Amino acid sequence: MRLRLWLCIAITIGLAPTSFAQEAVPPEMAYIPPTALEQIPDDGKLRVIVFGAHPDDCEIRSGGCGALWATQGHHVKFVSVTNGDIGHWQMAGGPLAQRRYAEVQAAAGVLGVTTDVLDIHDGELEPTLENRRTITRLIRRWQADVVIAHRPNDYHPDHRYTGVLVQDSAYMVAVPFFCPDTPPVRGNPVFLYSEDSFERPNPFRADIVVAIDDVIDQKVDALVLMESQFIEGGALGYLNPYDNSEEGRAKRREQAREGFKRRAGRSADRFRDKLIELYGEEKGKQVKYAEAYEVCEYGRRPSKDEIRQLFPFYPQAETKK
Ligand SMILES: [Zn+2]
Repeated sequence: MRLRLWLCIAITIGLAPTSFAQEAVPPEMAYIPPTALEQIPDDGKLRVIVFGAHPDDCEIRSGGCGALWATQGHHVKFVSVTNGDIGHWQMAGGPLAQRRYAEVQAAAGVLGVTTDVLDIHDGELEPTLENRRTITRLIRRWQADVVIAHRPNDYHPDHRYTGVLVQDSAYMVAVPFFCPDTPPVRGNPVFLYSEDSFERPNPFRADIVVAIDDVIDQKVDALVLMESQFIEGGALGYLNPYDNSEEGRAKRREQAREGFKRRAGRSADRFRDKLIELYGEEKGKQVKYAEAYEVCEYGRRPSKDEIRQLFPFYPQAETKK
């Protein structure tokens, strides 16, 4: 009774409670800043975003699929979540970050993907709320159908926290009032983990394995452009680990090239049964190089048919035109 009386007085003198005074803005009238979304043609093609902890992780784990998607006109973005500024045994800081940024841009040119590097120090990534917002906005800006990241059980803290941050965004990307400056995704994306060899607490499970034989040269061409990592020894290199003459560097490049091919070959052998299941007996046995993914339990859980639409590389795949 008292409350009703108070409301009558409040409304009479124009002091209506906030919940009465505010009316929800219909979604079609909500203001969306023009820079809130990446300028990607709305052409019905797939939109894939891959997160790696360092400027090379996306290329190592998804360079082949990135090139395959790009060849079909799909839109692929690689994001390095740190700037790689301690990823060299001899140099560090801004100059190395700039160098590594230039290297991933060059690699992206070879693969036909877009790439970006967040300005977070290498080795210092933390699973903070601010970083969760950043990752959420990136997925939304790309309006991703597929999101790929490391698993959260990985040897490197930056890899682990990249996995955690992407997992933490898997639900939030669809919640409109989390980061309301960036429109939520239209449908919850499929979240995938890229391959690793860690066993605890559980080993990687290959739900999706893709033959990358057609683009293996493109992939290794892109990777050997990352000279600060793969030609000069990376974070754990040492003085004179190679002959620094042009001849010596060319030899090192060749070794790196063969090393990456062996790695992709091991993935094909490790998941041979899955390749046969997806490509059929004959082709599955012939595949030499592969990349593999595990479906994350968060985000949308794709059916077998949808996996074939998102990875339109399998025989008789129903591709998204
Ligand atoms: Zn890394």
